[in-house]
Amino acid sequence: MQSEMKTEGVLSANGRLSELRESLCERFEQLWPGKREALVFGEGPVNPRLMLIGEAPGEQETLMHRPFVGKAGKNLDHFLMLSGLLREEIYITNVVKIRPTKTGKSGRISNRPPNREELAFFVPELLREIEIVAPDMIAVLGNTPLHALAGKGVMIGEVHGRLVPIADTERTCFALYHPASLIYNPGLREVYEADIRTLADILSKKSAGSEQP
Ligand code: URA
Repeated sequence: MQSEMKTEGVLSANGRLSELRESLCERFEQLWPGKREALVFGEGPVNPRLMLIGEAPGEQETLMHRPFVGKAGKNLDHFLMLSGLLREEIYITNVVKIRPTKTGKSGRISNRPPNREELAFFVPELLREIEIVAPDMIAVLGNTPLHALAGKGVMIGEVHGRLVPIADTERTCFALYHPASLIYNPGLREVYEADIRTLADILSKKSAGSEQP
């Protein structure tokens, strides 16, 4: 009986996720016509142990229509190895679901941080996505998702490795540096890895707690 109810809950959450994506596509098309094919949605199970939130898809993610593949996928593998989690058991998404780009003088296209207009559109969508996915725990990678959930005054350098309250909710998110920041600041690697171990610790205590009769 309980497992039937659980299956029903998962089906309905998946249905609500599809509806959310459809309605996002329609509203997105009005603001950015002809670009909906470039949207990259989150992937993974609903009610997961962990929801991991990055900034925005890059080139590879846009080509493959999946978050955290290519170079970012290697960072994710490293995260999984240290945390002891499997990709299949986490829900992975980004704040902004389209690759923000800029074009250099030479015509070269590269990534840029999401702008105000993109954030204003996508952050409320992310909050709805969190409610539907209903993870046991959320981890944010870097300042973009941290600001989206906890507010602009909270800086990753000050709160990494800790649970931070999500504004206007009962939820918290665990703050991690974005793995791309290790490229510019290799000195952060040790801190980043220690933070992932802290996260794994919290997760295993949570699962031990929920297994108790
Ligand atoms: N790829 C993603 O999907 N998200 C990031 O934040 C970085 C790379």
